[in-house]
Amino acid sequence: MGQSQPPASDAKLAVARIARELRRHLIFQAQLAADGAPRATADQLAELDRRIARAELDRDRAAFTRLGRQGAADRPAPSARSAARPAPPTPAAPPAAPLPVSAAPRPVADAPLPAPPSPQPPPAPRPALVAPAPRPPADPTSPYKIVDLLNRTNRPARVEAPPADARAAALHQLREELGDCRRCRLCETRTQIVFGHGSPAAELVFIGEAPGRGEDERGEPFVGRSGELLNRMVGAMKLRREDIYVCNIVKCRPPGNRDPNPDELEACAPFLASQLEALSPRVIVTLGADATQALLRTDAPLARLRGQWHHWRGIPVMPTYHPAFVLRNPAEKRPVWDDLKKVMAELGKPV
Ligand code: SF4
Repeated sequence: MGQSQPPASDAKLAVARIARELRRHLIFQAQLAADGAPRATADQLAELDRRIARAELDRDRAAFTRLGRQGAADRPAPSARSAARPAPPTPAAPPAAPLPVSAAPRPVADAPLPAPPSPQPPPAPRPALVAPAPRPPADPTSPYKIVDLLNRTNRPARVEAPPADARAAALHQLREELGDCRRCRLCETRTQIVFGHGSPAAELVFIGEAPGRGEDERGEPFVGRSGELLNRMVGAMKLRREDIYVCNIVKCRPPGNRDPNPDELEACAPFLASQLEALSPRVIVTLGADATQALLRTDAPLARLRGQWHHWRGIPVMPTYHPAFVLRNPAEKRPVWDDLKKVMAELGKPV
C-alpha cells in the first residue's frame, strides 16, 4: 500500500478556520456600523457559513473513515475467527477470604512450578559420626590455665629423646634465658632461682611444687628431710640421685612456703615446659597434689589421680604423694611404693 497523502480535509479545515475568523470580524464590523464603519452584506455572511459547514462536514467524514480502517485492522481474519471457539462461561468466583498476616507471598506468574511431592519417605537424620566429647565445666578460678595451654599440643606419641649432650646444651641455654628472672613477684623474696638438678640424660624426672627454705638457700631442689626420703625412694627403684632429674613447678620460693599464686604459676610455666622438652624423659613423676594438678591441669584430688597413668605431651606421668606428706603420714609409704613400682615397670626395670 502506498504512503497515505495528507487528508484534503486538513486544508479545508484551515480555510474554515480562517472563514470563521473572518465571519466574526465582519459581525464585529456590523456591530460598529452605527459608528460609520463598512458593513458585511447578508450574502457575504451566508457564503462564509456555507464554507465553514462544508469544511466541518469533510472533517467529520475523514475522521469516520480513519476509525473504520483502524477497526478492520484490529479485527481477526475470517479464518482465525472460524478457528476460535467461544469461551465457556466462567462461574463467578467466590469472594476471596482475607489473607492471614503470616500467609506466604503468592508466587509470581512466571515462577517455576514447585516440584511434585516425592513418593519416597523423607530420609532419617544421619547420626553424627563422632559424638562431641563432653567438656568439663570451666573453673574460672583455676590457676592451671597456662599449664592447660602448654598441654594443648597434641603430641600423639613421645619422640625419641635427643642425645645427652644436646639435652644438656638445651638445659644450659634455657637457664641462660631465665637469667635473673623477675617475671613474677616471687623474685622479690627468693634467695636464688632453683632451676633443677640432676642428669640431663635422665629417663625419670621428679617434679615438686616449689622450693622450700632449704632449697632456696642451697639452690637445689629436694634437700633436707624430704630430699633424703626422695633419695631412699629412688634407691629402692635401683636408681641413684645422679640418674634422675628433679625440679619444681615454680623456680622461686614463695614466702612463708605458701602455695604459688595463679599468676606466678602462669609466669613460670613456660620454663617448666621448656625444661621438660629439653629433658625428654621417658617418665615423669609428680610429687604432691599441687605439682600434679598444675602439670596435668586438673582440679581432681590427688587421691583419685595417683596410681594412674596420665600424660603430658605424650610423656607418661605418674602422680604420687609428696615425700613431706609421707614423712607426716608413714602409712602412705605403701601406696607410694606401689606407684613407683609401676614407674619401674614402665622403665623396663625389674620390680
Ligand atoms: S618463679 Fe619463675 S617466673 Fe617467677 S621469678 Fe622465679 S623463675 Fe621467674
